[in-house]
Amino acid sequence: MSNGFSKTYRFLLVISTVMLAALVASQFYHWRRIERLQEQPGQMADQLETIHHLEIRDEEYRPLRLVPPEKRPELYPALSTFRPGLDTLGIFQRRVRTDIRRWIGLDEELLQRKALTSSLGRENIDSLRVVREKVELSFEGFDHWSLRGYLLYPMEAQGPLPGVFCLNGHKGSAVGVAGLVEDYTYGYGLALAAAGFKVLTFDWCFEGESRLVDSHGRVYHGHDSIFEYISETGSTGLALYMENACCALKALKEDPAVDPERVGVTGISRGGELTTYFAALFSPDISGYYASGAGFPFSYRKLGGGCKCTFVERVFDNYEFSDLLVAAAPLPAGLQLGVRDQILGYFDNIDNLLEMARPVYAGLGKPQNFGLDIHDAAHVYRVDQALAFFKQHLKP
Ligand SMILES: [Zn+2]
Repeated sequence: MSNGFSKTYRFLLVISTVMLAALVASQFYHWRRIERLQEQPGQMADQLETIHHLEIRDEEYRPLRLVPPEKRPELYPALSTFRPGLDTLGIFQRRVRTDIRRWIGLDEELLQRKALTSSLGRENIDSLRVVREKVELSFEGFDHWSLRGYLLYPMEAQGPLPGVFCLNGHKGSAVGVAGLVEDYTYGYGLALAAAGFKVLTFDWCFEGESRLVDSHGRVYHGHDSIFEYISETGSTGLALYMENACCALKALKEDPAVDPERVGVTGISRGGELTTYFAALFSPDISGYYASGAGFPFSYRKLGGGCKCTFVERVFDNYEFSDLLVAAAPLPAGLQLGVRDQILGYFDNIDNLLEMARPVYAGLGKPQNFGLDIHDAAHVYRVDQALAFFKQHLKP
């Protein structure tokens, strides 16, 4: 009897030890993956010239992805809170917009103010027939932050131009987008301006030559200073990013040379993520968005993936990245991904994103307004694809 009992006991002990070991091993594997998911901006792999679309090259690209397709569902569970058939789209979209605006602590009063733009000098780039004008932006009667950047536009323009404002990724900069230094944006602002757009690129208020000061006069500068700002003021990084972006949108819309009915937003990496947030929260105010190198699943953000500067726990607890796309529909939307992008979460989430967003656009009668461009380079902005998107939807 006691022998039988101790056999059973030993058996149970062995089984539970094995299960515990398996659990520890799977957690270790999981956290190793999370570590690898941290962004490595500025990584420029080989630039290949061919452009392909997912529909025709999917099978060929699939083996290049780093996570085996059969592993994807367990690593990236679909967590979208949009439930077609149960949720009414319009109500859902308003709820996303209202919730996120409130949870990130957006200063709605500030956004009602007029944007001020002052010129700090200009130069002609004759080879492109483009003007590059250095500018400073701010909200009227508000002195906690101001933005420095560049307006880029064709030397000869007839009539109001469509406008595009650009949101920087990590280690991205206004001087990069404006073609003054080389980085993973390949100076896309210049290419858009040469094609007939009025482009506004700026540095976030705590980066580059922009300026951020709190109510005690303390100055914050450099990416990591945003963490001090968040802890000192109780604000969120997302609110600051959205308020800065709103200032840029207003500056463009108030520009007499810009058609306010044709203004779009774009960015890569952190800038692509923030572009998508902006589209979800302000879709009635813009005419299209193009987000490159973005789409990190919120389920992974909650586990520590991605940068904390855009982290707002309540948003990640309640929604998924795909909900941002759904909230912005049927606004013209372009996503861009490079197959050699090392930020695993983007590729592994893309099927979930398409699965959620496409039926919504189709249901609204605008399937042509939602597209994915893939290219065979790494975490870089492919200008030609973005240009095709903006030409189609903003019509320069
Ligand atoms: Zn960051």
